[in-house]
Amino acid sequence: MSDIAKYIRTIPHYPKEGIMFRDITTLLKDPVGFKLAIDLLVAKYKDAPIDYVAGIEARGFILGSPLAFALGIGFIPVRKKGKLPSKTISQSYDLEYGSDTIEIHADALPVGANVLLIDDLIATGGTALGAITLIEKVGAKIFETAFLVDLPELGGTQKIQKAGHKVFSLCSFEGH
Ligand code: AMP
Repeated sequence: MSDIAKYIRTIPHYPKEGIMFRDITTLLKDPVGFKLAIDLLVAKYKDAPIDYVAGIEARGFILGSPLAFALGIGFIPVRKKGKLPSKTISQSYDLEYGSDTIEIHADALPVGANVLLIDDLIATGGTALGAITLIEKVGAKIFETAFLVDLPELGGTQKIQKAGHKVFSLCSFEGH
């Protein structure tokens, strides 16, 4: 396991009582920590047959963009509803309370493209599974999903693996 965890700050009870918020802004502002995170991801995927990196708004953009750039491939933003200007495909997914909707451009990915999906953190896996469904809807394939942080007790990694996809995380934290 990498020492990525030491760059990540925990804010107890944010955004509500009982949640331990894993704040990656402390990693991003640290040139050693940010570079280490991207270098580890580049080392992991540099020889993989990936056509695109897709990042989930918003923290998935910050990590996915330098990764795609370093791998020499394109970046696809998976956005919150109503933000993309051209024709979109939507997917709703469950949150702890209620649901949300994410979108990609209908023409963002060619059929059969191999996609690495990235976000900062996987908790229940609802967001990642929504993004996977969306990418598969347009006929592209998920190569793997990658995260800086896994919260294994919340079951997201297992959920994605049960759906038949690989999950890679640079560090994990106990609890919620
Ligand atoms: P989930 O859909 O439950 O896997 O939640 C993942 C999404 O919510 C990611 O985009 C995370 O940025 C955010 N998130 C969920 N739980 C936390 C947490 N404890 N700390 C920081 N971000 C979180």
